[in-house]
Amino acid sequence: MDAKALAAIINAAINELLKTGSSPDTKKRLKDGLAQALDEAAAQPTDAIDYLQRHYKKYLDSVIRYRGLPVCSIVSSDGTQSDRSIEGIGMEGKFELFEPKIYCIFEECIKDVESQAKSFRQQIILSALNTFDEWAQSIPKGGTKDKSFREDAGYVRQELKSVQKWENFYFSLKGQNFSNRISRLVDEANAIAAIWHCSEYCDDDCNHSRYNGKTYIIRGNFASKEGFIAEEKAKYTDELPIPRNDGCNCYYEYIYRLEKLQTTLLSPKGKEQKNKIIKQRKESNELFDVNVVVTTSKKNNSKTVMEFNVVEKKPEKKKSSLFGGLFSRIFK
Ligand SMILES: [Zn+2]
Repeated sequence: MDAKALAAIINAAINELLKTGSSPDTKKRLKDGLAQALDEAAAQPTDAIDYLQRHYKKYLDSVIRYRGLPVCSIVSSDGTQSDRSIEGIGMEGKFELFEPKIYCIFEECIKDVESQAKSFRQQIILSALNTFDEWAQSIPKGGTKDKSFREDAGYVRQELKSVQKWENFYFSLKGQNFSNRISRLVDEANAIAAIWHCSEYCDDDCNHSRYNGKTYIIRGNFASKEGFIAEEKAKYTDELPIPRNDGCNCYYEYIYRLEKLQTTLLSPKGKEQKNKIIKQRKESNELFDVNVVVTTSKKNNSKTVMEFNVVEKKPEKKKSSLFGGLFSRIFK
């Protein structure tokens, strides 16, 4: 059924109700007719699945090509995009370690999209029919010419029509899942723990408030391997739902340094290490500083190129945690 045919059926149903009012028989007949029309007009689950799979594949190809999170070009200070493309970020020199996990996540995201497409389509159809039902219920016996009912009818019509393109809603729910999970993979590779934050946009559907503000350990992190974490008290990120997934707006704040982790999550050995670090820091308060210097004066073929110059004042022992810390600050 095409858009025109569906619109005609929707208009006929709404006009009949406005004219004659809502008896149970009329309402049932019209609703059944609409249900059938919507089912015929709505895109098929396979269309939505194909579209999302192609979208994920495109992102996967970029990650593979850039060997990291894709960043395509450097923006010059005059606002033009330089044609110089740089390597992907976050996986420098250890792409091989990430690669199998990336394919794994890709497969998981594809499966997730496939398994939920049919039920999501059904939900959208039901939700539109419910909106119609509620509105129909409100129409007085014998019909109405009241302006407010006609205005509401406009919204009902809109929602019923939007069912044809339900895959747009599905895309807005699932579209970012794969890229969000890859970027989380990079964040977690260098982090010890993460603090869950509910954003101001979180609604009741999200239902994640019980995690808000709590700290979760990342399994296999370097501090765990050193025995610094009180494992018996720890809760792990892999036991939780995935933030920024399926339209959730929650996010993690990552902890990359042992001294930033609350003492209650540290083992006696970890506490000792933390005290040692704090003492060292006091002795030389420049020990862990990293400077980011931005220069804008360099001429390159008469174009001014912005250059990021990272100056490490004194190297840290663990390079991986240094990079994690730096990126987390730049890309927050
Ligand atoms: Zn959430």
